[in-house]
Amino acid sequence: MNALIEAVRAGKVNEFSSEVIKVYASSLTQVGDTTLLMVRTTEGKKLIVVGSGELFDQLQGEVVDGEKVAPLTHENRLIINQFLPHTAPQAFGTQVATMGLGDRLGIASPGHIQTIRGKDIRPVLAQQSIRELALTGRTYEDVLDAAAYAVLQEGYTDGYGADGDHLKKEEDIEYALRLGFTMLTLDCSENIDNTIESMSEAEIAAKYEQLPASLRSRYEERYLQTAPNVPGATLAYTAEALKKDVLIYDAAINFMEAIYRKYIVTLDRAVDFEISIDETATPTSPEAHYLVANELRDRGVVIFSMAPRFCGEFQKGIDYIGDIAQFERELASHAAIAVHFEYKLSIHSGSDKFSVFPLIGQYTNGLFHIKTAGTNWLEAVRVVAKVNPTLYRRMHQYALDHFVEATAYYHVTTDISAIAPLSNVTDAQLPDYMEENNARQLLHITYGLLLQAKNEDGSRTFADEFFQTLADQEDTFAEGLRHHIGRHLELLGK
Ligand SMILES: [Zn+2]
Repeated sequence: MNALIEAVRAGKVNEFSSEVIKVYASSLTQVGDTTLLMVRTTEGKKLIVVGSGELFDQLQGEVVDGEKVAPLTHENRLIINQFLPHTAPQAFGTQVATMGLGDRLGIASPGHIQTIRGKDIRPVLAQQSIRELALTGRTYEDVLDAAAYAVLQEGYTDGYGADGDHLKKEEDIEYALRLGFTMLTLDCSENIDNTIESMSEAEIAAKYEQLPASLRSRYEERYLQTAPNVPGATLAYTAEALKKDVLIYDAAINFMEAIYRKYIVTLDRAVDFEISIDETATPTSPEAHYLVANELRDRGVVIFSMAPRFCGEFQKGIDYIGDIAQFERELASHAAIAVHFEYKLSIHSGSDKFSVFPLIGQYTNGLFHIKTAGTNWLEAVRVVAKVNPTLYRRMHQYALDHFVEATAYYHVTTDISAIAPLSNVTDAQLPDYMEENNARQLLHITYGLLLQAKNEDGSRTFADEFFQTLADQEDTFAEGLRHHIGRHLELLGK
């Protein structure tokens, strides 16, 4: 350690080499008279803090040879944020494409940054839902800490966002905003009535008649008597479809407005406010999208992006399922509506939708928000399959045994019987599972169960060995992410 500190003092970090300490050369940062360098020791990642000044004084760490070796704690992260603003999350607004790169493990962001650096798109590195926090046993503090330290490690100064993803409850919104999250994805699914979609026309008409007359006539005037004019969108309202849309979305629109007034308008900083109406059983027609957007505009609600539920299926970790011609037609309208109302179209569960990426890039003119679906976890599993076959086999078997439990959280059409039995597969073939849709989904949706699994003595069944394997193989993992996410960006035209 002393030799390393000497190298930092002398400005010769590149000449330092060691069997036990790995230096992240891109992390070398000067703040006044303080020099920061991130390294990995046998005890994990540390910051070497050399020099003097306020940043040096404030960072907590062990004093070695008159300098400091600081742990990557939450408290130290907050201090670094103050001195290096690019290590704190920021809002991006609507004039640049953005990509949500949620990192469930807290170790994928370096690879994500390497993929996106220098491209015409900005990363939302911290992106987790409350469900993901529960399934991984993490907190929003952990998520932000991991993203900020990854930015420091990579020396990435172009800015990143932090998305409180799919939030439904006010307490969760308050929690995320209090910690400095810069994007809020409001999940309106609990205010969307999914029973309407399957009702008969007569049932819909009867339910619609129960709404206040003034509300009905307002909607009818705005959508039936005036034809919406959105260049590039095909919108045709019928009385029947309008009744349905009003019944499905009116309560949700009230919810969006209430949250906006209470939390977004009153905030003393910018937040990218996204409306999500995707996680429902009801696909969003272009007419429904326009109605929601137009009502929000009328009420003065300004949004960053909207995530409709597209036709077909956007399942986790596999390509688009559905009629691509219909998708293209509706996408053209959805994108035109977003342009008309000056926000970005948001595409959720966007991992692996290779067959529709070129269309998304084209119709949005490259201005979109796309959320990946945590497939960095699958890339991590791929690394394990390559270098630690016994661990992979144990995880695979556990996932098979607990698959039904996991489907409570995710909608997938996985055919377990189509997955090649482990006993027929050689160690060298194990990574091939990551190329097969059913096995991908099996491993994808069981991530929470695998990470949280405990032995009878309370020790973790897989997690410790899993994280150690990935720490040993971090360059292989980052390379896999560059390949996987890089392919997304290429097809999206970035
Ligand atoms: Zn979603």
